[in-house]
Order: sequence, then structure tokens, then C-alpha cells
Amino acid sequence: MTSTPRPTERLVVLGAGVMGTGISTLALGHGVSVTLVDTDPDQLARAEHGIADGLRLAQLMGRLPADTEPGTLLTTGSAQHVAGASAVIEAVTEDAALKARLLAEVSAAVRPGTLLISNTSSIPIDELADAVARPADLLGTHFMNPPSLIRTVEVVRGARTGDAAMAAVDDLLGALGRERVVVRDSPGFVTSRILHPMINTAARVVQQGTASVEAVDALMQGCLGHPTGPLRTADLIGIDNLVDSLLVLLERTGDESCRPCDLLLDKVRAGTLGRKSGAGFYTYEEDMR
Ligand code: NAD
Repeated sequence: MTSTPRPTERLVVLGAGVMGTGISTLALGHGVSVTLVDTDPDQLARAEHGIADGLRLAQLMGRLPADTEPGTLLTTGSAQHVAGASAVIEAVTEDAALKARLLAEVSAAVRPGTLLISNTSSIPIDELADAVARPADLLGTHFMNPPSLIRTVEVVRGARTGDAAMAAVDDLLGALGRERVVVRDSPGFVTSRILHPMINTAARVVQQGTASVEAVDALMQGCLGHPTGPLRTADLIGIDNLVDSLLVLLERTGDESCRPCDLLLDKVRAGTLGRKSGAGFYTYEEDMR
């Protein structure tokens, strides 16, 4: 009988964008070794810099254990290392067909019982479970950006997620010093279902000329206690990812408040995607991204 690996032995992270970089930073800072996979070599190069900066910042802010030797990072353009994974976190572009294809490949390659995680913002886990060999091994985590600074993680239990996977994610998140809140599967779960239409409405208010970007964020912060303001949050998320997620929500719920407004669509067309591209609703110096 083969024993199930502890999820922290070697974490494979698929996708070296905003979230893959952030999740890798968090894991490495807690002593977990990471293999980071992306098909785009430029993204891998950016991620290596981002991880080094992120580790420095999180250490300076006291958000990582001071007495832990960082894990080792391996970056690669191919998923050939997936077979040896003790857990896999998928954090590629918010595209249901892409995620299903990748998760199918991964689940065919890993040992049975290996924890499979999707960090999707909105795609139901049970929909992705149709693609994998063992749906019981699959669940969702919704790490927020930046993962090393935000302590709470939304965990999504799909209809077919097994108890062993739930225990394994507890083990993993415990080792990463994260608190978890478990929710049922549904488009957008809790956080995206509430936050993403709200950001869309904030952008629509600007589009209609009711108030400036700065005024919307100042009111949401000053009067309603939102930590950064919805439009600064949009920049942090990435406006392309926000639009993808809104479209997933619109298609699966029919809720018209999720139809991305023209201002968001214009920004995606113009490539002003937020922090990661240097400009979105605000502009960012290179060293602030
Ligand atoms: P991103 O656009 O910054 O990065 C996506 C990465 O996936 C890119 O580097 C791309 O090259 C890579 N990729 C695409 N196809 C691939 C493949 N076949 N194999 C390997 N890599 C591939 O996106 P992101 O913001 O990091 O979001 C990733 C996931 O996390 C999405 O599902 C998103 O909805 C979710 N999420 C995002 C945030 C956020 O604040 N940005 C928060 C929570 C969850």
C-alpha cells in the first residue's frame, strides 16, 4: 500500500501570475519547497523577482516565521515535475476550459490521494471535478492577494470533495499559518459573489460620471470602512482577471449586476490591467508593483 504524502513535502503551483507568485512566496516563506510552472517564460522570470521581493517585504513586516529556513524554488515551463508533487495548486488564467484541461492532465499524473486545489475565483469546483480522475481529491481555496499578508483563506468544498482532501488542506493551511473558512460550492463562492459585482458597480458609478475614481474609493474607505476602496482593489486583483470572473458569474447565475461595465472592458482592451501592468484606475511606479 502506498502512503499518501504530507501536502507540504513539495508543492506544485501551476501559473506564475499574480496569485501563483503570491502563493509561492507564502509557501517558501514557511519552509515549503515549491515547483512553479508556467508556459510563459517571461512570467516565470517576473515571478522569480516578485517572490524575492515578496519574501523580503513579508519578512520586514513580520508576516513570516523568523526562524524558518525558506523552502527551495524550482521554476519550469513544463508540468513534468507534477508526478512527484505532494499537493498541487492550480492558479492559471480564469478560464474554465483551460483549468479543466490542466487539472485532467495533473490528476492523471499524480499519485492517488494527492491534494488537488484550484484557486479559481468563481468557477464551481464540482464543474472542474468532472475533468479529474478522482473528484474526491479536488477542492477550492481562494487565497486573496497578497497571500502572505492576508491570513484568512476561503476553502470551497465541492459536492464530491472527500474528507481526506479536507484534512489535507487543513494540514497545508496550518503549515502556512492561514486560517480557513469552509463554504459550499457555488459560482463565486462567498467572497467573489459579493465583491466582484460591487467593484463592477463602483466602476459603473465612475463611468456614469457620478464621481471620480478617487472619490469612490475615499467614500468606500472613509464612510464604509473598506480597507483600500473597490477600484484600488480592482487594480490589485488585475482588471482582466476581474472581467473573466464577472463573466463566469454572469454565465452561471444570470445576475445582470455581474455583466462587466464598459469602463472595465475598455481598460482590458487598452491593456491597463492594474498594478501588474503599471496602470489601471491608478498608475504605479515599477517598484510599487
Ligand atoms: P494572472 O493572469 O496574473 O496569471 C495567470 C498565469 O497563468 C499566467 O502567468 C499565464 O501565463 C499562466 N498560464 C496560462 N495557461 C497556463 C498553462 N497551461 N500552464 C501553466 N500556466 C499557464 O492571473 P492571477 O490573477 O494570478 O489569477 C490566477 C487564478 O487565481 C485565477 O483563477 C483567478 O481567478 C484566481 N484568483 C485571483 C486573485 C487576484 O487577486 N488576482 C485572487 C484570488 C483568486
